[in-house]
Amino acid sequence: MAFFDLVDFDNHEQVVFCSDEKTGLKAIIAVHSTALGPAAGGCRFWDYANDEEALTDVLRLSRGMTYKNAMAGLKLGGGKAVIVGNPKALKSNELFEAFGRAVNNIGGRYYTAEDVNITTADMAVVNQVTDYVAGLDGKSGNPAPFTALGTFLGIKAAVKFKLGKDDLTGIKVAVQGLGSVGYDLCAKLHAAGAQLVVTDINHETLNKAAEAFGAKVVELDEIYSQDVDVFSPCALGASINDNTIDQLKASIIAGCANNQLAASKHDQILKDKGILYAPDYVINAGGIINVSLEIYPEPYCADEATKIVEKIYDTLMTVFVKADAENKPTGIVADEMAREIIANA
Ligand code: NAD
Repeated sequence: MAFFDLVDFDNHEQVVFCSDEKTGLKAIIAVHSTALGPAAGGCRFWDYANDEEALTDVLRLSRGMTYKNAMAGLKLGGGKAVIVGNPKALKSNELFEAFGRAVNNIGGRYYTAEDVNITTADMAVVNQVTDYVAGLDGKSGNPAPFTALGTFLGIKAAVKFKLGKDDLTGIKVAVQGLGSVGYDLCAKLHAAGAQLVVTDINHETLNKAAEAFGAKVVELDEIYSQDVDVFSPCALGASINDNTIDQLKASIIAGCANNQLAASKHDQILKDKGILYAPDYVINAGGIINVSLEIYPEPYCADEATKIVEKIYDTLMTVFVKADAENKPTGIVADEMAREIIANA
Protein backbone atom coordinates (compact mmCIF):
# COMPACT_ATOMS: atom_id res chain seq x y z
CA MET A 1 0.00 0.00 0.00
CA ALA A 2 1.35 3.47 -0.93
CA PHE A 3 0.72 4.64 2.58
CA PHE A 4 2.13 8.17 2.47
CA ASP A 5 0.19 8.93 -0.73
CA LEU A 6 -3.21 8.06 0.74
CA VAL A 7 -5.54 11.08 0.57
CA ASP A 8 -6.48 10.52 4.21
CA PHE A 9 -2.85 10.35 5.34
CA ASP A 10 -2.76 14.14 5.03
CA ASN A 11 0.64 14.65 6.70
CA HIS A 12 -0.09 12.74 9.90
CA GLU A 13 2.81 13.25 12.32
CA GLN A 14 2.73 9.69 13.59
CA VAL A 15 0.73 6.52 12.99
CA VAL A 16 1.37 3.59 15.31
CA PHE A 17 0.24 0.02 14.65
CA CYS A 18 0.02 -1.91 17.92
CA SER A 19 -0.60 -5.57 18.54
CA ASP A 20 -0.55 -7.91 21.49
CA GLU A 21 -0.79 -11.60 20.65
CA LYS A 22 -1.82 -12.71 24.15
CA THR A 23 -4.92 -10.50 24.34
CA GLY A 24 -5.73 -10.27 20.61
CA LEU A 25 -5.23 -6.50 20.61
CA LYS A 26 -4.90 -4.97 17.18
CA ALA A 27 -5.00 -1.19 17.29
CA ILE A 28 -3.97 1.83 15.28
CA ILE A 29 -3.18 5.12 17.00
CA ALA A 30 -3.04 8.13 14.69
CA VAL A 31 -1.55 11.47 15.72
CA HIS A 32 -2.45 13.98 13.04
CA SER A 33 -1.11 17.18 14.58
CA THR A 34 0.43 18.34 17.84
CA ALA A 35 0.90 21.92 16.62
CA LEU A 36 -1.57 23.27 19.19
CA GLY A 37 -0.79 20.80 22.00
CA PRO A 38 -0.92 17.08 22.70
CA ALA A 39 -3.26 15.24 20.37
CA ALA A 40 -6.60 14.28 21.93
CA GLY A 41 -9.37 12.10 20.57
CA GLY A 42 -11.30 9.02 21.62
CA CYS A 43 -10.70 5.36 20.97
CA ARG A 44 -13.24 3.43 18.88
CA PHE A 45 -13.69 -0.36 19.09
CA TRP A 46 -15.10 -1.59 15.78
CA ASP A 47 -15.30 -4.78 13.74
CA TYR A 48 -13.96 -3.34 10.48
CA ALA A 49 -14.40 -5.32 7.25
CA ASN A 50 -10.62 -5.14 6.69
CA ASP A 51 -7.48 -3.37 7.87
CA GLU A 52 -7.68 -0.70 5.15
CA GLU A 53 -11.12 0.32 6.41
CA ALA A 54 -9.75 0.66 9.95
CA LEU A 55 -6.81 2.72 8.75
CA THR A 56 -9.01 5.05 6.70
CA ASP A 57 -11.36 5.51 9.65
CA VAL A 58 -8.65 6.34 12.16
CA LEU A 59 -6.90 8.76 9.78
CA ARG A 60 -10.13 10.64 8.98
CA LEU A 61 -11.21 10.77 12.60
CA SER A 62 -7.79 11.91 13.78
CA ARG A 63 -7.60 14.75 11.22
CA GLY A 64 -11.17 15.70 12.19
CA MET A 65 -10.06 16.04 15.81
CA THR A 66 -7.28 18.45 14.76
CA TYR A 67 -9.88 20.70 13.12
CA LYS A 68 -12.42 20.30 15.92
CA ASN A 69 -9.94 21.14 18.68
CA ALA A 70 -8.54 24.09 16.72
CA MET A 71 -11.98 25.62 16.08
CA ALA A 72 -12.94 25.11 19.72
CA GLY A 73 -9.93 27.24 20.71
CA LEU A 74 -8.32 24.36 22.63
CA LYS A 75 -4.60 23.96 23.18
CA LEU A 76 -4.89 20.41 21.87
CA GLY A 77 -3.94 18.72 18.64
CA GLY A 78 -5.81 15.95 16.87
CA GLY A 79 -5.49 12.21 17.28
CA LYS A 80 -7.63 9.10 17.47
CA ALA A 81 -7.29 5.39 18.08
CA VAL A 82 -9.17 2.36 16.79
CA ILE A 83 -9.16 -1.13 18.24
CA VAL A 84 -9.93 -3.61 15.48
CA GLY A 85 -12.30 -6.52 16.08
CA ASN A 86 -15.61 -7.50 17.61
CA PRO A 87 -15.84 -5.80 21.02
CA LYS A 88 -18.25 -8.46 22.32
CA ALA A 89 -15.76 -11.22 21.61
CA LEU A 90 -12.52 -9.41 22.40
CA LYS A 91 -13.12 -7.05 25.32
CA SER A 92 -11.04 -7.90 28.40
CA ASN A 93 -9.18 -5.97 31.06
CA GLU A 94 -5.92 -7.44 29.76
CA LEU A 95 -6.64 -6.10 26.25
CA PHE A 96 -7.31 -2.59 27.58
CA GLU A 97 -4.11 -2.77 29.66
CA ALA A 98 -2.19 -3.69 26.50
CA PHE A 99 -3.84 -0.76 24.72
CA GLY A 100 -2.92 1.51 27.65
CA ARG A 101 0.73 0.45 27.39
CA ALA A 102 0.65 1.36 23.68
CA VAL A 103 -0.80 4.80 24.51
CA ASN A 104 1.81 5.24 27.24
CA ASN A 105 4.63 4.45 24.81
CA ILE A 106 3.62 7.47 22.73
CA GLY A 107 4.81 9.48 25.71
CA GLY A 108 2.01 12.03 26.14
CA ARG A 109 1.74 13.12 22.51
CA TYR A 110 -1.70 11.42 22.43
CA TYR A 111 -4.51 11.40 25.05
CA THR A 112 -7.22 8.80 24.64
CA ALA A 113 -10.87 8.76 25.79
CA GLU A 114 -14.18 6.96 25.12
CA ASP A 115 -15.70 6.65 21.68
CA VAL A 116 -18.01 4.09 20.07
CA ASN A 117 -18.12 0.77 22.04
CA ILE A 118 -15.77 2.04 24.76
CA THR A 119 -17.11 2.83 28.22
CA THR A 120 -15.74 4.87 31.12
CA ALA A 121 -15.11 1.52 32.89
CA ASP A 122 -12.89 0.41 29.97
CA MET A 123 -10.98 3.68 30.16
CA ALA A 124 -10.53 3.23 33.91
CA VAL A 125 -8.62 0.01 33.08
CA VAL A 126 -6.51 1.87 30.49
CA ASN A 127 -5.82 4.47 33.20
CA GLN A 128 -4.23 1.77 35.38
CA VAL A 129 -1.23 1.71 33.04
CA THR A 130 -1.14 5.25 31.63
CA ASP A 131 -2.02 8.78 32.72
CA TYR A 132 -2.74 9.82 29.14
CA VAL A 133 -6.51 9.20 29.46
CA ALA A 134 -9.42 11.67 29.82
CA GLY A 135 -13.19 11.50 30.26
CA LEU A 136 -12.92 9.42 33.43
CA ASP A 137 -15.70 9.00 35.98
CA GLY A 138 -15.21 11.34 38.93
CA LYS A 139 -13.35 13.83 36.71
CA SER A 140 -14.90 15.48 33.63
CA GLY A 141 -17.27 12.49 33.32
CA ASN A 142 -20.01 12.21 30.69
CA PRO A 143 -19.43 14.72 27.86
CA ALA A 144 -22.98 14.44 26.43
CA PRO A 145 -24.63 17.30 28.41
CA PHE A 146 -21.87 19.67 27.21
CA THR A 147 -22.29 18.49 23.63
CA ALA A 148 -26.05 19.08 23.97
CA LEU A 149 -25.47 22.61 25.30
CA GLY A 150 -23.10 23.46 22.43
CA THR A 151 -25.54 22.04 19.87
CA PHE A 152 -28.44 24.00 21.37
CA LEU A 153 -26.43 27.24 21.18
CA GLY A 154 -25.36 26.35 17.64
CA ILE A 155 -29.02 25.98 16.63
CA LYS A 156 -29.72 29.40 18.17
CA ALA A 157 -26.84 30.94 16.17
CA ALA A 158 -28.10 29.34 12.94
CA VAL A 159 -31.68 30.50 13.58
CA LYS A 160 -30.44 34.03 14.28
CA PHE A 161 -28.33 34.10 11.11
CA LYS A 162 -30.75 32.41 8.73
CA LEU A 163 -34.15 33.44 10.09
CA GLY A 164 -33.24 36.63 11.97
CA LYS A 165 -34.86 35.37 15.20
CA ASP A 166 -33.24 35.89 18.60
CA ASP A 167 -35.24 33.15 20.30
CA LEU A 168 -36.57 29.70 19.42
CA THR A 169 -40.23 30.26 20.26
CA GLY A 170 -42.29 28.47 17.63
CA ILE A 171 -39.23 27.29 15.70
CA LYS A 172 -39.82 23.76 14.39
CA VAL A 173 -36.96 21.31 14.84
CA ALA A 174 -36.74 17.72 13.56
CA VAL A 175 -34.37 15.73 15.77
CA GLN A 176 -32.99 12.45 14.40
CA GLY A 177 -31.77 10.32 17.31
CA LEU A 178 -32.69 10.77 20.96
CA GLY A 179 -29.61 9.29 22.60
CA SER A 180 -27.39 10.79 25.29
CA VAL A 181 -27.06 14.08 23.40
CA GLY A 182 -30.28 14.16 21.35
CA TYR A 183 -32.66 13.72 24.27
CA ASP A 184 -30.93 16.39 26.35
CA LEU A 185 -30.99 18.69 23.32
CA CYS A 186 -34.76 18.11 22.98
CA ALA A 187 -35.23 19.13 26.63
CA LYS A 188 -33.36 22.38 26.00
CA LEU A 189 -35.24 23.10 22.76
CA HIS A 190 -38.60 22.42 24.41
CA ALA A 191 -37.75 24.71 27.33
CA ALA A 192 -36.86 27.42 24.80
CA GLY A 193 -40.29 27.14 23.14
CA ALA A 194 -39.37 25.12 20.05
CA GLN A 195 -41.77 22.57 18.52
CA LEU A 196 -40.25 19.12 18.12
CA VAL A 197 -40.57 16.32 15.59
CA VAL A 198 -38.52 13.28 16.57
CA THR A 199 -37.47 9.83 15.44
CA ASP A 200 -35.34 7.01 16.84
CA ILE A 201 -35.11 3.24 16.62
CA ASN A 202 -35.84 3.13 20.34
CA HIS A 203 -39.60 3.45 20.88
CA GLU A 204 -39.32 3.83 24.63
CA THR A 205 -37.32 7.07 24.29
CA LEU A 206 -39.73 8.31 21.64
CA ASN A 207 -42.72 7.81 23.94
CA LYS A 208 -40.83 9.59 26.71
CA ALA A 209 -40.12 12.58 24.42
CA ALA A 210 -43.73 12.69 23.23
CA GLU A 211 -44.95 12.83 26.81
CA ALA A 212 -42.30 15.17 28.24
CA PHE A 213 -41.94 17.61 25.33
CA GLY A 214 -45.15 17.17 23.32
CA ALA A 215 -42.91 15.97 20.47
CA LYS A 216 -44.50 14.60 17.30
CA VAL A 217 -43.11 11.12 16.61
CA VAL A 218 -42.42 10.04 13.01
CA GLU A 219 -40.97 6.96 11.30
CA LEU A 220 -37.21 6.80 10.67
CA ASP A 221 -37.41 7.63 6.96
CA GLU A 222 -40.05 10.36 7.41
CA ILE A 223 -37.79 12.66 9.45
CA TYR A 224 -36.06 14.25 6.45
CA SER A 225 -39.19 15.54 4.73
CA GLN A 226 -40.79 17.17 7.77
CA ASP A 227 -41.98 20.73 7.29
CA VAL A 228 -39.56 22.21 9.84
CA ASP A 229 -37.08 25.09 10.15
CA VAL A 230 -34.18 22.99 11.46
CA PHE A 231 -33.10 19.42 10.73
CA SER A 232 -30.91 18.20 13.59
CA PRO A 233 -28.95 14.99 12.90
CA CYS A 234 -28.11 13.47 16.30
CA ALA A 235 -27.77 9.77 15.45
CA LEU A 236 -25.35 8.33 12.93
CA GLY A 237 -23.00 9.91 10.41
CA ALA A 238 -23.72 10.40 6.68
CA SER A 239 -27.42 11.12 7.15
CA ILE A 240 -27.11 13.92 4.57
CA ASN A 241 -26.54 11.93 1.40
CA ASP A 242 -27.69 11.57 -2.21
CA ASN A 243 -30.92 9.87 -1.10
CA THR A 244 -31.93 12.30 1.66
CA ILE A 245 -30.70 15.73 0.55
CA ASP A 246 -33.61 16.38 -1.84
CA GLN A 247 -36.18 15.43 0.79
CA LEU A 248 -35.15 18.22 3.18
CA LYS A 249 -37.59 21.08 3.72
CA ALA A 250 -35.60 22.64 6.58
CA SER A 251 -33.51 25.72 5.81
CA ILE A 252 -31.00 24.86 8.55
CA ILE A 253 -29.01 21.69 9.36
CA ALA A 254 -27.60 21.81 12.87
CA GLY A 255 -27.05 18.71 14.99
CA CYS A 256 -24.49 16.86 17.07
CA ALA A 257 -23.71 13.82 14.89
CA ASN A 258 -20.18 13.39 13.59
CA ASN A 259 -19.54 13.30 9.83
CA GLN A 260 -23.08 14.38 8.88
CA LEU A 261 -22.30 14.85 5.19
CA ALA A 262 -21.81 11.58 3.30
CA ALA A 263 -19.42 13.31 0.90
CA SER A 264 -17.73 16.72 0.74
CA LYS A 265 -19.81 17.60 -2.36
CA HIS A 266 -22.91 17.80 -0.13
CA ASP A 267 -21.51 20.96 1.49
CA GLN A 268 -21.78 22.77 -1.87
CA ILE A 269 -25.16 21.17 -2.70
CA LEU A 270 -26.62 22.43 0.60
CA LYS A 271 -25.32 25.92 -0.14
CA ASP A 272 -26.84 25.81 -3.66
CA LYS A 273 -30.17 24.81 -2.12
CA GLY A 274 -30.02 27.75 0.30
CA ILE A 275 -29.74 25.44 3.33
CA LEU A 276 -27.47 26.73 6.10
CA TYR A 277 -25.23 23.93 7.41
CA ALA A 278 -23.62 24.28 10.84
CA PRO A 279 -20.34 22.34 10.34
CA ASP A 280 -20.56 19.25 12.55
CA TYR A 281 -17.18 19.46 14.21
CA VAL A 282 -17.78 23.07 15.20
CA ILE A 283 -21.28 22.65 16.65
CA ASN A 284 -20.56 19.34 18.44
CA ALA A 285 -17.32 20.36 20.20
CA GLY A 286 -18.94 20.72 23.65
CA GLY A 287 -17.87 17.23 24.74
CA ILE A 288 -14.20 17.58 23.83
CA ILE A 289 -14.14 21.05 25.39
CA ASN A 290 -15.28 19.49 28.66
CA VAL A 291 -12.77 16.64 28.34
CA SER A 292 -9.95 19.10 27.55
CA LEU A 293 -10.25 20.63 30.99
CA GLU A 294 -9.30 17.24 32.44
CA ILE A 295 -6.12 17.18 30.32
CA TYR A 296 -4.94 20.72 31.13
CA PRO A 297 -2.77 21.02 34.26
CA GLU A 298 -5.39 23.10 36.16
CA PRO A 299 -8.00 21.12 38.12
CA TYR A 300 -11.19 20.29 36.17
CA CYS A 301 -13.92 22.94 36.54
CA ALA A 302 -17.41 22.43 35.04
CA ASP A 303 -18.19 26.19 35.10
CA GLU A 304 -15.08 26.90 33.09
CA ALA A 305 -16.07 24.16 30.60
CA THR A 306 -19.53 25.74 30.25
CA LYS A 307 -18.01 29.17 29.53
CA ILE A 308 -15.87 27.74 26.73
CA VAL A 309 -18.79 25.73 25.29
CA GLU A 310 -20.84 28.95 25.15
CA LYS A 311 -18.30 30.35 22.66
CA ILE A 312 -19.60 27.87 20.06
CA TYR A 313 -22.38 30.40 19.32
CA ASP A 314 -19.88 33.10 18.27
CA THR A 315 -17.58 30.70 16.44
CA LEU A 316 -20.45 29.44 14.31
CA MET A 317 -21.69 32.97 13.68
CA THR A 318 -18.19 33.85 12.40
CA VAL A 319 -18.27 30.84 10.05
CA PHE A 320 -21.74 31.80 8.74
CA VAL A 321 -20.81 35.46 8.15
CA LYS A 322 -17.50 34.57 6.44
CA ALA A 323 -19.13 31.90 4.24
CA ASP A 324 -21.81 34.39 3.20
CA ALA A 325 -19.30 37.16 2.49
CA GLU A 326 -17.05 34.85 0.47
CA ASN A 327 -19.93 32.98 -1.20
CA LYS A 328 -18.54 29.62 -0.06
CA PRO A 329 -20.05 26.56 1.65
CA THR A 330 -19.82 26.72 5.44
CA GLY A 331 -17.91 23.43 5.74
CA ILE A 332 -15.15 24.68 3.46
CA VAL A 333 -14.91 27.95 5.39
CA ALA A 334 -14.65 26.11 8.73
CA ASP A 335 -11.86 23.91 7.32
CA GLU A 336 -10.00 27.00 6.09
CA MET A 337 -10.35 28.72 9.46
CA ALA A 338 -9.11 25.61 11.30
CA ARG A 339 -6.10 25.26 8.99
CA GLU A 340 -5.20 28.92 9.57
CA ILE A 341 -5.31 28.49 13.36
CA ILE A 342 -3.02 25.44 13.09
CA ALA A 343 -0.63 27.15 10.67
CA ASN A 344 -0.30 30.11 13.05
CA ALA A 345 0.40 27.88 16.05
P1 NAD B 1 -26.12 7.60 21.52
O1 NAD B 1 -25.62 6.27 21.07
O2 NAD B 1 -26.39 7.81 22.96
O3 NAD B 1 -27.43 8.02 20.72
C1 NAD B 1 -27.66 7.73 19.39
C2 NAD B 1 -29.16 7.58 19.22
O4 NAD B 1 -29.45 7.43 17.84
C3 NAD B 1 -29.72 6.36 19.94
O5 NAD B 1 -30.87 6.72 20.71
C4 NAD B 1 -30.10 5.41 18.80
O6 NAD B 1 -31.19 4.58 19.11
C5 NAD B 1 -30.44 6.41 17.72
N1 NAD B 1 -30.38 5.88 16.36
C6 NAD B 1 -29.56 4.93 15.86
N2 NAD B 1 -29.82 4.73 14.56
C7 NAD B 1 -30.81 5.60 14.23
C8 NAD B 1 -31.49 5.88 13.03
N3 NAD B 1 -31.23 5.24 11.89
N4 NAD B 1 -32.45 6.86 13.05
C9 NAD B 1 -32.73 7.51 14.18
N5 NAD B 1 -32.11 7.27 15.36
C10 NAD B 1 -31.18 6.32 15.37
O7 NAD B 1 -25.01 8.64 20.98
P2 NAD B 1 -24.76 10.13 21.46
O8 NAD B 1 -23.66 10.13 22.43
O9 NAD B 1 -26.06 10.79 21.77
O10 NAD B 1 -24.15 10.74 20.10
C11 NAD B 1 -24.99 11.02 19.00
C12 NAD B 1 -24.13 11.50 17.84
O11 NAD B 1 -23.37 12.65 18.25
C13 NAD B 1 -23.09 10.49 17.34
O12 NAD B 1 -22.93 10.68 15.95
C14 NAD B 1 -21.83 10.90 18.07
O13 NAD B 1 -20.66 10.49 17.35
C15 NAD B 1 -21.97 12.40 18.06
N6 NAD B 1 -21.24 13.08 19.14
C16 NAD B 1 -21.50 12.77 20.42
C17 NAD B 1 -20.81 13.44 21.45
C18 NAD B 1 -21.06 13.13 22.89
O14 NAD B 1 -20.64 13.93 23.75
N7 NAD B 1 -21.75 12.06 23.23
C19 NAD B 1 -19.85 14.41 21.11
C20 NAD B 1 -19.64 14.72 19.77
C21 NAD B 1 -20.34 14.06 18.79
